[in-house]
Amino acid sequence: SYGDLRDATNGFSSSNLIGSGSFGTVFKALLPTEKNVVAVKVLNLQRHGAMKSFMAECESLKDIRHRNLVKLLTSCSSIDFQGNEFRALVYEFMPNGSLDMWLHPVEVEEIRRPSRTLTLLERLNIAIDVASALDYLHVHCHEPIAHCDLKPSNVLLDDDLTAHVSDFGLARILLKFDQESFFNQLSSAGVRGTIGYAAPEYGMGRQPSIHGDVYSFGILLLEMFTGKRPTNELFGGNFTLHNYTKSALPEKVLDIVDVSILHSGLRVGFPVSECLTMVLELGLKCCGESPINRLAMSEAAKELISIRERFF
Ligand code: ADP
Repeated sequence: SYGDLRDATNGFSSSNLIGSGSFGTVFKALLPTEKNVVAVKVLNLQRHGAMKSFMAECESLKDIRHRNLVKLLTSCSSIDFQGNEFRALVYEFMPNGSLDMWLHPVEVEEIRRPSRTLTLLERLNIAIDVASALDYLHVHCHEPIAHCDLKPSNVLLDDDLTAHVSDFGLARILLKFDQESFFNQLSSAGVRGTIGYAAPEYGMGRQPSIHGDVYSFGILLLEMFTGKRPTNELFGGNFTLHNYTKSALPEKVLDIVDVSILHSGLRVGFPVSECLTMVLELGLKCCGESPINRLAMSEAAKELISIRERFF
């Protein structure tokens, strides 16, 4: 209930606030019904109503389970003490925060900043985890689910840095119940990152699709293995990751890669530049202009696994 959530999050106080993003505000909480710490996401919907079918949609998300998806534990839709409609989703808590924090530590406040950078092998493992989660959503659920908002802040890391994708299914719910705020959020420049990850066809008013997720995954790979945000200007010119996807890799691939990625631990005789070239080329392949010609996520996962086997 709203009361339970209010108590568990300390009255939604700022000390329990983890972060806020495209679809809501996230608090850390200990619910009376749960043994473990949870993350409560309070949705910021502009339009309400249809509470019952909203709840039914959320309930159906609880059945979607995969080792690389964040588990949705329960949902709550009620009226708060001021009479406002209130909707929240309760997820398992991910102690190592989001991939975004690990990729861009200098932008994170000191107390939450990861103490080291991710190794190349850890990055590969995370990419494989994310690809497996998307493949599951796209072809192994009872109906295909497009994530529609894949980006590093939606990739959360548990104790042993296994990646879990969050916010899946939310796009479908928002599209149904609050289409206006869904599109506002997708295209809002104020929402960090989202703009760089959305497939170009979304900008032309196309409905979200699983092929759009493949594009976002390609951008995610480019970001993870260059260390640059999609909106970052490479080489000081107006050469962003986004228009980079329309061109080829430079001959000296290491020129566009942050040095922090290069402590490598690869097998002897297997140069880091070769490994990075293979991963970045895969990233480019995922970002093709034509949605239906993009790779399937199962193929992307398979390629990443074979890169890992070759180099580590
Ligand atoms: P975004 O739109 O940036 O993904 P979210 O509202 O999903 O924002 O989440 C905001 C932040 O809260 C995330 O960047 C992440 O650091 C944190 N967060 C979200 N869900 C969880 C969770 N289940 N466990 C731990 N931290 C979480």
